[in-house]
Amino acid sequence: MIDFRLDEEHEALRKTVEEFAHQEVAPVIGDYYEREEFPYDLVAQMGRMGLFGLPFAEEYGGMGGDFTALCITLEELGRIDSSVAITLEAGVSLGAMPLYRFGTEEQKREWLPKICAGELLGAFGLTEPGGGSDAGATATTARLEDGEWVINGSKAFITNAGTDITGLVTVTAVTGVTDGRKEISTIIVPTGTPGFSVSKKYSKVGWNCSDTRELSFADCRVPEANLLGVRGRGYAQFLSILDEGRIAIASLAVGLAQGCVDECLRYAGEREAFGHKIGAYQAIQFKIADMEARAHTARLAYYQAASKMLRGEPFKKEASIAKLVASNAAMDNARDATQIFGGYGFMNEFPVSRFYRDAKILEIGEGTSEVQKMLISRHLGVA
Ligand SMILES: Cc1cc2nc3c(=O)[nH]c(=O)nc-3n(C[C@H](O)[C@H](O)[C@H](O)COP(=O)(O)OP(=O)(O)OC[C@H]3O[C@@H](n4cnc5c(N)ncnc54)[C@H](O)[C@@H]3O)c2cc1C
Repeated sequence: MIDFRLDEEHEALRKTVEEFAHQEVAPVIGDYYEREEFPYDLVAQMGRMGLFGLPFAEEYGGMGGDFTALCITLEELGRIDSSVAITLEAGVSLGAMPLYRFGTEEQKREWLPKICAGELLGAFGLTEPGGGSDAGATATTARLEDGEWVINGSKAFITNAGTDITGLVTVTAVTGVTDGRKEISTIIVPTGTPGFSVSKKYSKVGWNCSDTRELSFADCRVPEANLLGVRGRGYAQFLSILDEGRIAIASLAVGLAQGCVDECLRYAGEREAFGHKIGAYQAIQFKIADMEARAHTARLAYYQAASKMLRGEPFKKEASIAKLVASNAAMDNARDATQIFGGYGFMNEFPVSRFYRDAKILEIGEGTSEVQKMLISRHLGVA
């Protein structure tokens, strides 16, 4: 039997996060966005609520929940604001998950409790200035010398990499060549390590309260023990992290798509034109109906991908489908919502303008829409 309902625990979590997003995030996030400021106090509150530890075992300071719990949380946050949601998504799914999945007991005990508490953020450095989609083309290198990795190279667009509470970044680097093929490994680089520097924040179209930086490594030395998991398994590691991450990004995108519906329902019942509420016009009703249908179907897609993942079944194709349709839904809904708001939709004080600016990156980050289509067609056996 197919049961699409959330169980009691997940529904209770959803309600708690919904309240937090409405009561704590919504009233202040517009100002943070205007100032392009990282919302430390909201992140601290999310840490105290246990959100950064949602899918991790209690022995590492986590909440002992599952990946669905994270996704539901991202959806509710994304309904109000994407910067806060992506800070959590990148902190958990990209920053902490590689440590949790591949780290030694010592590495987990060193980093995870503080990350779960929201006191430290981890970042994931895969993309390079020379290209992100073709991640196997990594040019950053790490060579072993006197019991230390010596890292050289750079990474681009890395989320959560330069905040005051960033504790580490895990980076992929070429650690050798085997049978003519690059051997890629993942290495933990703590913030402040000599030779490791972060650029100033990029000026971005959206996600303006989220921290995004370029990273440089110039003869940056870390202990050999900072290798994450097995040497040479870096490529496989990041592929599996990104598969899961796509479901998380899909849930965030569904949140944005639903947030557009929320805003438009309210506005269509208030705004008048030609003597009637604009909601009386079928053109507006149909737009909102289309928006709801997109959010709804994208939600089903990510629920299904998450449930396959949790059952231990192959889920890569479903994760790509969820990411593709949810990011499309977010873009389409943001465009329609801004249209429904008319001129006010173009004013920064209205949340739909943030939704409009925040939607585009969802078609790019953690694998572009083209990359999702490549993955889906590969699974279908095309070419
Ligand atoms: C705000 C932000 C935050 C990010 N956070 C992180 C992070 O925390 N960690 C991290 O590692 N990365 C991060 N990224 C990087 C992101 O994942 C990459 O931008 C993305 O994977 C695309 O890579 P690219 O920008 O190099 O584009 P490219 O790979 O250069 O692609 C350019 C265009 O070509 C298309 N293309 C490429 N190859 C093909 C092909 N074979 N067939 C058809 N079309 C193709 C792409 O779809 C795209 O449209 C972030 C990016 C942004 C903007």
